[in-house]
Amino acid sequence: MQLLDGKTLSKKIEIIVADEVKNFKKATNSVPGLAVVLVGQDPASAAYVNMKKKACDRVGFYSVTHEMPEDISQETIENTISMMNDNPSIDGILIQLPLPSQIDETKILELVAPSKDVDGFHPFNVGRLTTGLDGFVPCTPLGVMELFKEYNIDIKGKNCVVVGASNIVGKPMASLLLNADATVEICHIHTDNLKKHTLDADILLVGVGVINLITEDMIKSDAIVIDIGINRADNGKLVGDVDFANVSEKCSYITPVPGGVGPMTIAMLLRNTLKAAKAHAKERV
Ligand code: NAD
Repeated sequence: MQLLDGKTLSKKIEIIVADEVKNFKKATNSVPGLAVVLVGQDPASAAYVNMKKKACDRVGFYSVTHEMPEDISQETIENTISMMNDNPSIDGILIQLPLPSQIDETKILELVAPSKDVDGFHPFNVGRLTTGLDGFVPCTPLGVMELFKEYNIDIKGKNCVVVGASNIVGKPMASLLLNADATVEICHIHTDNLKKHTLDADILLVGVGVINLITEDMIKSDAIVIDIGINRADNGKLVGDVDFANVSEKCSYITPVPGGVGPMTIAMLLRNTLKAAKAHAKERV
């Protein structure tokens, strides 16, 4: 079994992005800018935002976080987004999800200018992804594809089973795999007999949020296992959705949690923001 080491690859990508930021600065006299909207006090969301901010600092981006109280109104968030859409120092806008229940999340995500939608959640970019056109792709599944590239894992024609069908993980993951000529199956909470499906997988990708959902008897020998889940175990440690100790004995490749897909997500956010900045700079000349 070989580990798919997202921690090391993300550092390599950060070095490349930091270098490109230096060139960008020389050429445009500006740096890429990322704005984050963080609503409420959820510690996990605050921790993710903090990690993203630190990554921006490391590569030389400008970044700003708009922290808002849990009882914020729809109108205030919308006004903030409109302001960021119009601000030329901001190339990427990220709305940290989930938003509180009084907020219409779809409306908020639809308000982000597609050219600043570095999370790839706007229907414009979702449509471009499903039709195989260039656009912004959600960072987590994009990071998984980057791991495949780094380890020369050929996806074409492989049976890929994606467990989890959310708009931010499972569905875009499936689209990317399909665009790369894999045979793709998507499973979710209503899937009957999950094991029957997972046993078919050459490549199993799991983003659900349930500790030990995937056990060793659910994978075939030498499968490639991508664990996207992030869960806090009773002992306080971060774990994925896969029973790592036993599954890692049977598979050919596996992503660890932490240190697998998580750091790749942040690296892809940096890359998407740089891509947005380059496109905006081109528009300005
Ligand atoms: P979500 O709650 O929006 O979606 C969960 C999906 O899993 C749904 O499609 C649901 O139908 C499915 N599901 C739930 N229980 C299931 C079961 N028992 N069997 C099969 N399918 C089941 O969650 P999300 O936002 O997509 O996140 C999923 C996981 O990925 C979470 O653990 C989250 O923390 C993690 N995540 C990790 C990263 C990263 O950077 N590594 C990024 C985003 C999310």
